[in-house]
Amino acid sequence: MSRLRARILALGLTLVVVGALSVSMLPVTYAASEYDCPGQKLAALTFDDGPSAYSDQILDALRDHGAKATFFMNGYKMWSYPDAVRRMAREGHQVANHTYNHPYLAQCTDQQIRQELDATAQVITSLTGLTGTGETGFYMRPPYFSYNERVLAAAGVPVVWCTVDSSDWKYQSADRLVSYVSSQLQDGGIVLMHETVKSTAQGLGRLIDTLKAQGYELVTVDELFWRRGITPQPSTYYTSAPNTGINRCARALYFDESKLDTHWAYESICYVKEKGLMTGNAYGEFTPNFPLTRGMFVTILGRMEGVEDAGVDTGFADVPQGHYAAPYVAWAKEKGIMIGTGEGFFGVDRPITRQELAVTLARYGTMRGLEPEPFDLTAYQDHEQIAEWAKQGVADCSALGWLKGVGENFEPLGNTTRAMGAVILQRLCESTFPGDSQE
Ligand SMILES: [Zn+2]
Repeated sequence: MSRLRARILALGLTLVVVGALSVSMLPVTYAASEYDCPGQKLAALTFDDGPSAYSDQILDALRDHGAKATFFMNGYKMWSYPDAVRRMAREGHQVANHTYNHPYLAQCTDQQIRQELDATAQVITSLTGLTGTGETGFYMRPPYFSYNERVLAAAGVPVVWCTVDSSDWKYQSADRLVSYVSSQLQDGGIVLMHETVKSTAQGLGRLIDTLKAQGYELVTVDELFWRRGITPQPSTYYTSAPNTGINRCARALYFDESKLDTHWAYESICYVKEKGLMTGNAYGEFTPNFPLTRGMFVTILGRMEGVEDAGVDTGFADVPQGHYAAPYVAWAKEKGIMIGTGEGFFGVDRPITRQELAVTLARYGTMRGLEPEPFDLTAYQDHEQIAEWAKQGVADCSALGWLKGVGENFEPLGNTTRAMGAVILQRLCESTFPGDSQE
């Protein structure tokens, strides 16, 4: 048995769980971060009255500037722009219902209200194959905000209004759109714009950049509700989704834990769980697709090495005394395995990039006495994107088989998931280090 493995087994007995990836021995605030994206501001951009001749320009801006949106559309227009509707669905936007003919719903009979919504739902389904949002059918926004209790009851789906009405149709000004929306928007807010306004299509990219600079992540209404713990109900009216204590990370990061045995990294996940290296979070979930942070990784390494809390000041503003990662950050700094990200910060909650991981692992290997074979980095098509300071580390880890390419590339700026962390940890544990006693 290798020294490392023996040490891990011993640690498994004494610590039960090892590493920041396990939560049970860590402060509650850490457990929360598994489910909460601390400080993450969310907002939903919505467009009414489409599709239109501007749909593609709007979709281009959303794609190029990195935002998802929700489109409340009129059924009668969708036959004219079927490709735009399909593109919305394909590119991860939310397709929603703004009635077929854009009537004043408060003046319609119950039967007319249902016909207006059903007809549009049928067009969306025939164009995209979508059958609704969640369990509730397509969300609806009433034209002219004409609604009352009877409309709500007849609609039978969640009804969505807004917190910031841009009045873009009235002002027809990209500058005004950017300045007004960015000054009015608050966390959890829903912005109403129109898919039919040229200046909105023109100003959208700038608006997205401005909001992102303010810290917003721009998501669909459906995603906004889910991340704030809201399960929309039929015949219920919503205007916003502020953070009332639930602020989940992006839905794409979550994995159905009941199907963990279908995850590509399941074998490694079992391995690290059995060894007690990584366990579930406070909710009993492994969250394999969550990013591995710098703090988590240094903690795993430090605990594998049996680092104890020496009460040393890390010197990093974001890793004060008492922080879960403080002993390990201090150790890694002293050993020169991991240094800060500059300006006095360690970047403890930042996802670790693949090239940072490579450099850290390579330094760890060197510390353990390894001398990796030379490795030709041109084996990776994107080798020119690897930072100068990371090249040796990437080469060493590649030679050791600790890190492998992603297809033809190394993806130096890509992140690592907890699942990938489990795989790497298994490779590390199964490596032979000089001085290990062999059995
Ligand atoms: Zn409208």
